[in-house]
Amino acid sequence: MKTALVCGAGGFIGSHLVKFLKNKGFWVRGVDRKMPEFSPTEADEFLVLDLRDCDNCKKALALDSGKPFDEVYQLAADMGGMGFIKNAECEIMHNSILINVNMISEAAMMGVSRYFFSSSVCVYRDMQPGESMIDETGAYPAFPDNEYGWEKLYSERMLQAFSRKYGMIARIARFQNCYGPDSAWEGGREKAPAALSRKVAQIEDGGDVEIWGDGLAERNFIYVDDLVRAVYMLMHSDLEGAVNIGTLENVTVRQLLQYTAEAAGKKVGFKSIDGPVGVASRNFSIGRITSLGWQPEYSLREGMKKTYAWVREQLIKAGQEVK
Ligand code: NAD
Repeated sequence: MKTALVCGAGGFIGSHLVKFLKNKGFWVRGVDRKMPEFSPTEADEFLVLDLRDCDNCKKALALDSGKPFDEVYQLAADMGGMGFIKNAECEIMHNSILINVNMISEAAMMGVSRYFFSSSVCVYRDMQPGESMIDETGAYPAFPDNEYGWEKLYSERMLQAFSRKYGMIARIARFQNCYGPDSAWEGGREKAPAALSRKVAQIEDGGDVEIWGDGLAERNFIYVDDLVRAVYMLMHSDLEGAVNIGTLENVTVRQLLQYTAEAAGKKVGFKSIDGPVGVASRNFSIGRITSLGWQPEYSLREGMKKTYAWVREQLIKAGQEVK
């Protein structure tokens, strides 16, 4: 049986990836500083460890058999939506870099054969609406919009350096915004799809939802099941270097709000308020990942129906008012 280690298995994408790998027949160890919040883990073994600490990375990577893991998926990060990225830049740069520096070096020295790193399209510069598509090479010359992007770019490079020296196969995905059930939906780390779902569930039909800025920033969202499938295909491919994982369905935040309202069966307007808006636009090629035969299966409309229903259920479970 092949063995896989999923770091960040208590989080959103990591918990979905654990399920996916179990269905593929792997023996899976999940590691995180917390257990999954929304449903029990499906991992064969789950270790609660702080991966900023090098000794904990060694523990995470050590198997009783003495053999290295066949596959390591590194998704642990100090992570959140745009508000968190703007307000917690020191934590992001300090904590995520320690996790990646320690995990990459320990995995390489322990002889792991395949290592996956979850990078982000935040490594790219800001783009303007209407700008033509850029591919993975467009990350250089580097000018990420925020510190989260700089941390990801450095970690990509560190992984590639250790891969060259130790022969560990490195696979790097740059994720677009990922959404779906089991993601943070309140508390400050939630992303736009979950935050809008919560706001729409809590207002009357015909009400106005507050959004940061004018709502004309363009974004691209990928449903978590599609993303996890792409991660697995990338890990088992021979694609070197970074690979964008997303869809080509670019929408404004206003459009995302309308899809959310549609999922709720409500008509809603919006009210602009001050807040961190982030980049003006995103338009990235997905040619490398689709060259493997991967295609997204969920449209944003379909994905938002599932996400809205899940967030609404969480509000009810938490005893909060829904309308
Ligand atoms: P998440 O916050 O739900 O999961 C990250 C997990 O890492 C959390 O469970 C957290 O507890 C864990 N973690 C943080 N610090 C840790 C530490 N010191 N030790 C052990 N575990 C620690 O985030 P996610 O959305 O599942 O993102 C997974 C990965 O994908 C991250 O690397 C993130 O940067 C990347 N990514 C996500 C998106 C997205 O839209 N969700 C987009 C681009 C990139």
